[in-house]
Amino acid sequence: KNVVVAIDGYSSCGKSTLAKALAKKLGFIYIDSGAMYRAVTLYFIRNQVDMTDQSAIADALQHIELNFHSRDYQSHITLNGEEVSDEIRLMPVSENVSEVSAIKLVRVEMVKQQQRMGKSKNIVMDGRDIGTAVFEDAQVKFFMTADPKIRAERRFKELERKGNNQVTLEEVFENLAHRDYADTTRKESPLIRAEDAIILDNTDITEQEQLDFALDKVTP
Ligand code: C5P
Repeated sequence: KNVVVAIDGYSSCGKSTLAKALAKKLGFIYIDSGAMYRAVTLYFIRNQVDMTDQSAIADALQHIELNFHSRDYQSHITLNGEEVSDEIRLMPVSENVSEVSAIKLVRVEMVKQQQRMGKSKNIVMDGRDIGTAVFEDAQVKFFMTADPKIRAERRFKELERKGNNQVTLEEVFENLAHRDYADTTRKESPLIRAEDAIILDNTDITEQEQLDFALDKVTP
């Protein structure tokens, strides 16, 4: 049977950093489920999809094809053939993604695609509902958290490194707080720790320390 490692947690607490490192060490495939919700959001913004109109949403979903292309364990996603990996990280998408991901029709479709991807391969998938909804029977589950100020600083530095200087640290902090609130209070698969998920708070530990901790749980 193939192995699934599920990583959930709050926004910007290093889920993808850990997921990529684990996938690389274990030779598993890394799947960034948040990138899928972000790409759908980008499509909705570009096509001005009315988020209160169920049939418009259903129609839009039928016109969206998402594909991952992993190079060096970095995840690249295409939206209808177009590489959108950088654009989906920018503020317009970050500011709307929680609203889009709260839509039931959107979640049903994404979960279906995610389950298909992890059906027969060894994967590490990160997100908000991987251990609670997408792969409830995942062999190993982590629930990540970190101090909100530290998370905002890390995300801000990452955006800066990528040349995005239009956003302030305060705006990043507010966006994370907003998404955490929306993600934990929504009706459809709210962000919550699965009972059998291992808590990993990385406020005060290094990337190497968290990788060693996680590897120890995956390969005891
Ligand atoms: O992981 P990332 O921060 O890129 O995810 C962006 C947003 O997508 C989250 O704030 C959340 O609203 C949504 N999401 C979700 N379920 C997932 C992954 C992401 O609802 N499995």
